[in-house]
Amino acid sequence: MQNKYKDLINQLQNDFSDLEILSDEPMSKHTTFKIGGPADIYVEPSIVQVVPLIKLLKKQAIPFMVIGNGSNLLVSDDGIEGVVISLAKPAADIQIDGTSITAEAGAMLSSVANQAAASGLTGLEFASGIPGSIGGAVYMNAGAYGGEIKDVLTSVTILTPEFDLVELTPEDLDLSYRHSSLMEKGGIVLSAKLELQLGDSQAIKAQIEDIRQQRINKQPLNFPSAGSTFKRPEGYFAGKLIDDAGLRGYTVGGAQVSNKHCGFVVNTGDATCADVLKLMSDVDDIVFDKFGVHLAPEVRIIGRNMD
Ligand SMILES: Cc1cc2nc3c(=O)[nH]c(=O)nc-3n(C[C@H](O)[C@H](O)[C@H](O)COP(=O)(O)OP(=O)(O)OC[C@H]3O[C@@H](n4cnc5c(N)ncnc54)[C@H](O)[C@@H]3O)c2cc1C
Repeated sequence: MQNKYKDLINQLQNDFSDLEILSDEPMSKHTTFKIGGPADIYVEPSIVQVVPLIKLLKKQAIPFMVIGNGSNLLVSDDGIEGVVISLAKPAADIQIDGTSITAEAGAMLSSVANQAAASGLTGLEFASGIPGSIGGAVYMNAGAYGGEIKDVLTSVTILTPEFDLVELTPEDLDLSYRHSSLMEKGGIVLSAKLELQLGDSQAIKAQIEDIRQQRINKQPLNFPSAGSTFKRPEGYFAGKLIDDAGLRGYTVGGAQVSNKHCGFVVNTGDATCADVLKLMSDVDDIVFDKFGVHLAPEVRIIGRNMD
């Protein structure tokens, strides 16, 4: 890029002196799929920098996108226009007060679940192996092993597209299977409050370990992926439909239906976004031909030329 955002970079350097500003940053470095072309600008602001940063970008009509840990993203090979703002942070603040937990959007689910376990709080074990942030988990209503964020969430602090800071309840967010109203209405999760129950720390830790083992046994964790590629169609399991359609191991370029778990598309080394999209389209077509069921993507497909 002949940096069309040169002026912006200068301004960001002035206004946010301790913010590292990366230009033409490959998104393959920031997604668990290890796929994606360059973001024009990529930043990891502290939580207090988020609001002023976004205000500045909006004022100048510069496109931006907020991401968490990049664990549910398929990013265009052509990259992302404007500014990518990553909130995920291993050291993000997590406060525990009795049975209530308040976590910054960037806190990793695993950290929150582990801290809950250490404090003898039960209810978040299901989320311990989901490699996302709290913000991403609220946006996606992430869930596993019979639980979902909706079950434990009491409120979220959101920066609305109109720049209001508001407290919303799970009902306001219309959380349902891998859906929140943020997908339609916009808004950035800044923090979330969860309510858990008192339990036995050792039993909670044992449950987390049991889930970890189940994931290791069933999921292709040795390959880059974005988790379940497709949503569960009502009444079916995507992985089973794909397997029954004879697509285990089906490959397009570097993208492959996992041999270990057909619900996952994995990057075998040099997959492009185009490979994954072609594979997803083929899988959907073949499954539809055989079973009359369409598979909708669970992964968020983002970036240039993806609309
Ligand atoms: C190996 C593996 C296993 C997985 N297992 C599961 C599972 O069991 N259950 C499950 O539900 N998911 C699973 N996932 C998918 C993924 O981890 C979840 O969807 C997770 O919630 C995404 O969080 P993230 O922080 O990585 O978000 P990202 O992938 O960075 O972003 C996802 C979406 O959320 C938006 N977003 C992120 N942060 C914010 C914010 N602060 N405010 C507003 N919007 C935001 C982004 O714009 C994007 O649209 C798995 C993924 C992998 C790689």
